Amino acid sequence: MTDTAAMPIAIVGVGKIARDQHIPAIAADDRFTLAATVSRSGGVEGVENFETVEDLLAARPDIPALSLCMPPLPRFAAATAALAAGRHVMLEKPPGATVAEVFKLDRLARARGVTLHATWHSRCADGVAAARAWLRDRQITRLRIDWREDVRKWHPGQDWIWQAGGLGVFDPGINALSIMTEILPHPLHLSGAELHFPENRETPIAADLRFAGPGGIDASAGFDWREEDGEVWEITVDTDGGELRLVDGGARLLIDGTEQPVEGPGEYPALYHRFAELIETAQSDVDPAPLVHVADAFMLGRRIVVEPFHD
Ligand code: NAP
Repeated sequence: MTDTAAMPIAIVGVGKIARDQHIPAIAADDRFTLAATVSRSGGVEGVENFETVEDLLAARPDIPALSLCMPPLPRFAAATAALAAGRHVMLEKPPGATVAEVFKLDRLARARGVTLHATWHSRCADGVAAARAWLRDRQITRLRIDWREDVRKWHPGQDWIWQAGGLGVFDPGINALSIMTEILPHPLHLSGAELHFPENRETPIAADLRFAGPGGIDASAGFDWREEDGEVWEITVDTDGGELRLVDGGARLLIDGTEQPVEGPGEYPALYHRFAELIETAQSDVDPAPLVHVADAFMLGRRIVVEPFHD
């Protein structure tokens, strides 16, 4: 909260995540006011809407910040246009359809002297900061990620997610990788993967990953979109000082089975708080590490063809 006037911000791409999280988070934040949208499907009632990012940039020089909530593939062109026009940009995850896109956007933001905030919402889950602090001085022997959900429940009708560049099961899986890269005191690198592609789709429905790291750590992850029995979004870390578990996507933290008190403003309020702070201090926050693991999985992973998937 601040006494200064709220900064006008525009949302580009009014889909599930914009409606579920971004619009409520902006409405609850005194530092921003939703001044416009770019939406092919109409946008938000009572808010000026534009057909294209270029139209918005030309018509509204008074809007210094854009939050890009569309899928990764069309996001790069929009981000490039906005940064080139001298606007601050917040990116939904993943920050690019490729790693090179992220480096390009980072360089462009620096050259233009504006803020680029490549967000990883799961890093703002309530248990994550406490997990990072607890692991800082401990010897880690094993890490296991289990990230399973029903794609029909969480991504109904999202064709883009099944098209090359849409990441498939890595779309949720990268949330786990964003937490892993945040909480571990020493980075891991991908050492092997199996990617399960439905024979009628361009992106995987499941993935098994292995990682290498200090001290011969036993680290692996399993992502699966075929879970019909609720969701499992868990990370377990065994250390010389006990077992840490992040459950419910990082919202809850357990040490040796005991629930730890954690609190926070919530993932998306925290992201907008950080965006305001970055703009105020003329900084960017761009960490491609989770996307690098995904790119490595596509490079190193064995491709296994599985039965067709129909929505
Ligand atoms: P979505 O429901 O499919 O919405 C994406 C919106 O982007 C569309 O409704 C459309 O809005 C716009 N868009 C612009 N170009 C598009 C194109 N070529 N193809 C499809 N849509 C296009 O997707 P979403 O779930 O909101 O996901 C968007 C991004 O947020 C993804 O990167 C995803 O990883 C991330 N995310 C999603 C969730 C979640 O729970 N769904 C959670 C965290 C992060 P207009 O009709 O307004 O143009």
